[in-house]
Amino acid sequence: MRRKLVVGNWKMHGTLAQSTALLQEVVAATTELSEDVEIGICPSYIHLGLAKELLQNKPLLLGAQDLNSEPEGAQTGEVSASMLADFGVSYVIVGHSERREIFQESDQLVVLKIAAAQAAGLTPILCIGESLEQRQQGLTEEIVIAQLNAVIDQVGIQAFDRAVIAYEPVWAIGTGQTASPTQAQEVHWILRDHLAARDAAVAGAIRIIYGGSVKADNAKDLFLQVDIDGGLVGGASLKAEEFISICKSAD
Ligand code: PEP
Repeated sequence: MRRKLVVGNWKMHGTLAQSTALLQEVVAATTELSEDVEIGICPSYIHLGLAKELLQNKPLLLGAQDLNSEPEGAQTGEVSASMLADFGVSYVIVGHSERREIFQESDQLVVLKIAAAQAAGLTPILCIGESLEQRQQGLTEEIVIAQLNAVIDQVGIQAFDRAVIAYEPVWAIGTGQTASPTQAQEVHWILRDHLAARDAAVAGAIRIIYGGSVKADNAKDLFLQVDIDGGLVGGASLKAEEFISICKSAD
């Protein structure tokens, strides 16, 4: 039985005061949440310290939004996997479509980041997904499998022993246009089936979460799908009440 996982990705949002208030509101509501649902918060690097302080002894895990693939070095402005692990971070988002698009991150770099995260003891959340154009051309399966294979081919199937996959159709991110539960389930099944052909145990255990305009009013139907193990939530994670409602939907 896979434990459901809901992760908030705050992206580059929030002043110190706003992030403090949001964390306090989320923390205050955790008593209403089931232990059957694991919850993570990924604030910007600069608010990790604040989140660490406010999440102390609370059933919420700390996540980062990115990392550098190198262990250390002259890389001004960057943060390594070991720095994040040492700080108490549990999860790190890798290969978010915004990073692939805006910062031209390749599958090759994503693979290096996955390996670096795992070597430091972090759990990477590997984001994969097709663009609208690719979906319209019927290329969804080909694209997501290629993104998955980039990791399998370089790191091996054991990379998914301790990782989370987030299926995030690019056309659904921040657009308000959510994939239907059936559309999302179809892709989640394709991913799990692809992993199962290599290792049934890994495929059965890995959490594949959905991201792309998850909201309080569509979360339940998505999370009811047999291969959807929770959500990666952007915009709606910036509103405490809505995020908590989404977390409750995963129970
Ligand atoms: C995301 O950024 O990972 C995401 C899913 O964003 P949103 O929920 O806003 O679509």
